[in-house]
Amino acid sequence: MSRRKKLSISMLLVEGIALVCMLKVFVWVIGNNVMKSPFSVPELDYALFGLGALLVLRVGYVVVKAKVSNKAAPNKPVGDNELELSSIDEHVCAYCGKAVSEKVWNYCIANSHRFHGGIYCYDHQRSVR
Ligand SMILES: [Zn+2]
Repeated sequence: MSRRKKLSISMLLVEGIALVCMLKVFVWVIGNNVMKSPFSVPELDYALFGLGALLVLRVGYVVVKAKVSNKAAPNKPVGDNELELSSIDEHVCAYCGKAVSEKVWNYCIANSHRFHGGIYCYDHQRSVR
């Protein structure tokens, strides 16, 4: 007997339902062919109903758990990307490396012939001239 095969709860429930279904068919066949008068076993219906409800609960739990972990996972990389983007997008003076405002940056772009295409802070715009 090998116990290596690990059964999940869902698989166990599915096998239980299959077993109860087989028992129902067995009872039906016995009732029709052997006893010539069909009879039903209500316990089998209860067992089938209970196992079905458990399976639905189990599958619902697995689905909800997967959704929660999916929601939590992508948050981290998005935050990292935002950090990288802001460092690439930074407007800094080509001379001193100080951050410049968007107004200064636009001014340097508009007068790129004067600043040779570079970005300079307000103080160093005069020294470039
Ligand atoms: Zn500067």
